[in-house]
Amino acid sequence: MFSLCVYCGSRPGRDPRHAEAARRLGTLIGERGFRLVYGGGHAGLMGAVADATLAAGGQVLGIIPRRLVSRELGHRGIQELRVVDTMHDRKRQMAEAADAFVALPGGLGTLEELFEAWTWQQLGYHARPIGLLDSAGYYAPLRALLAHTTEAGFVDAAQVARLRIDDDPASLLDRLHAEAGENAAGRADFTVI
Ligand code: AMP
Repeated sequence: MFSLCVYCGSRPGRDPRHAEAARRLGTLIGERGFRLVYGGGHAGLMGAVADATLAAGGQVLGIIPRRLVSRELGHRGIQELRVVDTMHDRKRQMAEAADAFVALPGGLGTLEELFEAWTWQQLGYHARPIGLLDSAGYYAPLRALLAHTTEAGFVDAAQVARLRIDDDPASLLDRLHAEAGENAAGRADFTVI
């Protein structure tokens, strides 16, 4: 079963279009018979994507560190909630369970997770596709920063181009699913230091 690891805000954000995009993505995951892998919380966009996946009949795996269960409202309605000891356990298990990654709008945690998956890809620790759901233009400043990093000679334009950016959940999901399928070696070669 295709598993999509979703990184997103533990808050809903001010613009309701972000929660709408999270629910849309969750609904598509469920309708297509995919599995959502995420941080296991019930707050913010995390809760929105998980609830929508469940409502559409999808499978959900949540992975949450013990000390965040109360703060992020560990989701008791999902099929599998793993409570782990550390943040590093969480991130490793989320990555290992994933065929592809996508970041939705979010805060520092979301950005950290996106960049970790992306830098692991750059270094060759995995070859799984990574997407950015640019809901309501939230990531326009990040896109500008990325262009700046390549112009300044610190990042290869080819690596920036490997981040699949889309404002439409359906087309982004289709693309990540197709690329994960083409990349048969992607799962086997995943080794996290
Ligand atoms: P945020 O985008 O800050 O709302 O956080 C989204 C999710 O990322 C939450 O489940 C946080 O627990 C998680 N998170 C926060 N910091 C980190 C980190 N350093 N590494 C991985 N996940 C994190």
